[in-house]
Amino acid sequence: MTGGRVTRITGALVEAAPLRDVALYELARVGTRGLVAEVIRLRHDVATLQVYEETTGLAVGEPVRATAEALSVELGPGLLGSVLDGVGRPLAALALQGGDYIAAGAEAATLSRQARWRFAPGRAAGDTVAGGDVLGTVTEPGGFVHRILVPPGVRGTVAHLAGGLFTVDDELGRLADGTPLRLAHRWPVRRPRPIAERLASDRPLVTGQRVLDLLFPVAEGGTVAVPGGFGTGKTIIEQSLARHAEADVVVYVGCGERGNEMAEVLHEFPRLADPRTGRSVMDRTVLVVNTSNMPVAAREASVYLGLTIAEYFRDQGLRVAVMTDSLSRWAEALREIGSRLQEMPGEEGYPTYLGNRMAKLFERAGRARAEGTPAREGSVTLISAISPPGGDLSEPVTQAALRVSGALWALDTDLAHQRQFPAVSWDVSWSLYAEAAAPYLARASGADWPALRTAILALMQRERELREIAGLVGQDALQDEDRVLLEVARATRDAVLGQNAYDPHDAASPVARTARLAGLALALHRQALAAVEAGTPLDALGLGDLRRRLAAVRFLEPARFDAGAATVEAAIAALGAGRTATP
Ligand code: ADP
Ligand code: MG
Repeated sequence: MTGGRVTRITGALVEAAPLRDVALYELARVGTRGLVAEVIRLRHDVATLQVYEETTGLAVGEPVRATAEALSVELGPGLLGSVLDGVGRPLAALALQGGDYIAAGAEAATLSRQARWRFAPGRAAGDTVAGGDVLGTVTEPGGFVHRILVPPGVRGTVAHLAGGLFTVDDELGRLADGTPLRLAHRWPVRRPRPIAERLASDRPLVTGQRVLDLLFPVAEGGTVAVPGGFGTGKTIIEQSLARHAEADVVVYVGCGERGNEMAEVLHEFPRLADPRTGRSVMDRTVLVVNTSNMPVAAREASVYLGLTIAEYFRDQGLRVAVMTDSLSRWAEALREIGSRLQEMPGEEGYPTYLGNRMAKLFERAGRARAEGTPAREGSVTLISAISPPGGDLSEPVTQAALRVSGALWALDTDLAHQRQFPAVSWDVSWSLYAEAAAPYLARASGADWPALRTAILALMQRERELREIAGLVGQDALQDEDRVLLEVARATRDAVLGQNAYDPHDAASPVARTARLAGLALALHRQALAAVEAGTPLDALGLGDLRRRLAAVRFLEPARFDAGAATVEAAIAALGAGRTATP
C-alpha cells in the first residue's frame, strides 16, 4: 500500500504525489476523511484521481492512500431489494425520506454483515469445482433462489462444504488449497464478467407495451436507446418495463437530471407492485442511485456498477434488464472529467472516445451461456434513456448510442403533447430484433405476428402521408377510402399504440391481447373499406362510434377482455354485413 499527499484539487479531480506502484483505475482513499476515488491518470509518480464524493473542505497536503484494489462490488445474497449509491454503498433507510445521505468517506459494505442466510449445498467434499459452478443455493425472503457461484478464476477440489446459517463473512467451507468458500465475492466493476459463450439474441424480452412488442420489439440480451426530450415519458417507460417486462431481475441505474427526480424513484419503486407476485417490485430489483452529495464522477461509475450486478444475475441463468435513466448524465460526466484533464475535446465538447466507451458499455449486454455447471443461459438487456437537448437526435450522445444499439425507441414531443403515451414515434423508431422476435411472439399470441406488424406500420405510414396531403388540399378533398384510413389510424393510436401506465388493466398488455387489439383495428379497416366500396355512405358507417368502442376494450380486466373484444368484433363484422342491406 502506498501513500502520498494531495497536491492539487480541481472539483472532483485531485492530484496526488508521490504515488508509486499504483495502477490505473486503482481505488484510493483521499484526505483525512478517506473520500472514495479512482486513479484515472498516472504521470511518473503523480496520480490524477477521480473523487466520487464532494471534495469541499479537502485541502492540499492531506494524505492519499492507494488500496491496491479496483473499484469493485460485492455480489451475493441480499443484493436484491437494495438501494446503492454510485460506488455500491447502500443508502441508509433515512435517505429514503430525502434526509441525509451517506457521510463522505463512509465505509459502508454493499451487503449486510449481520444477515444470516440458509445455505443449501449442492456440492460436497471431493468435488472438483471451477469458476461459475453453482456451489449451492440460498432462498431469499421474497422467494428468490440465489445461486451461490464459485468466483470466476477460482478452481480446486472441495475439502469441506457445509449447509446451515451463514453471514456473507462466514466460511461455508474450503478448497483443498485452503481457499475459503463464501456466500459472496467481489468483482471489479469496469471488467466484464467472463462467460462460456455468447448466444444469439433470438427471442424477445416481452415488455407488455403494445407499441414496443408489436412494432419495435427488444430481444433478450438486446440494447435499446430511448432518447426523448423533457416530459416525453422516458422515466415512465423505464418504470413500466421494470415492472412489467418479462425479466427475472431488474437493475435500475438512476442518474437524474433534477435532484428531486431520484427522490421520486426512491419513493415510487418500493410502492410498485410486482404484477406476478403482488409483492413489491423491489424483491427482484436493485436500484443504483446517484445521491445528491456525489459529484458527477460517481454517475460515470454507477453505470458500470449496475452492469456488473446485472452480469452476476445473468451468470445465475436469469433474464436481467438494466435501465439507465439517463445515459446522457453518464456522458456529461465523461465530458466534465475530460475537460478537467484538459483533453482535446470532440464534438460538442464530449471526449473523442465517447463512442468507444459507449460501445464497450453496450457490449456488456447480451445473451450468454454461463461458465460452470449446471448449464445456465442468461441475458443482460440494456435499455438506456437518453436526454438529448431539445429532443434533437442528431446530438453526439444519441448518435453514439444509436451506432451500438439494436433498437431505437424515439420518444416524440408532439405525441407527448397530444398525450399519446407511450410517445414512441412509429415514424422514427426501429428495431433490428423484429424478425428474430416474431416466431416467439406468433406462438405466444396465436397470431401471424409479422403480418400484423407490417400491416399496422403500413397503416400508420399511410396516415402520415394522408395527413400531409390533407394539409395541402384539405380533408374534404380526400377520397372516402383515405378518410376511412385516417379514422382507422386514429382507432389504432387509441386502441393499440396508446397505453396508460397508471391504469391497472391497461398498463401491461400480454401479447395475446396486443395481437387481438391490432387484429381488430385491421378488421375495422377491411370491413369499412368493403362497406364503402359496396356503396355505403361514409357517414352511415358509424366509424367514430366503433373507434370509441374499440378503444374501450383495452381497459377491460382480463376476465372480461375476450367477451368485450368479441362484441366489438361482431359490430365490425356487421359493417360488412350492412353493405348487403344497404341498397
Ligand atoms: P421524462 O422522464 O421523459 O422527462 P416522464 O417519464 O417523467 O418524462 O413523463 C412525463 C409525464 O408524461 C408523466 O408524468 C405522465 O403524466 C406522462 N406519461 C408518460 N408516459 C405515460 C403513460 N404511458 N401513461 C400515462 N401517462 C404517461
Ligand atoms: Mg425522467
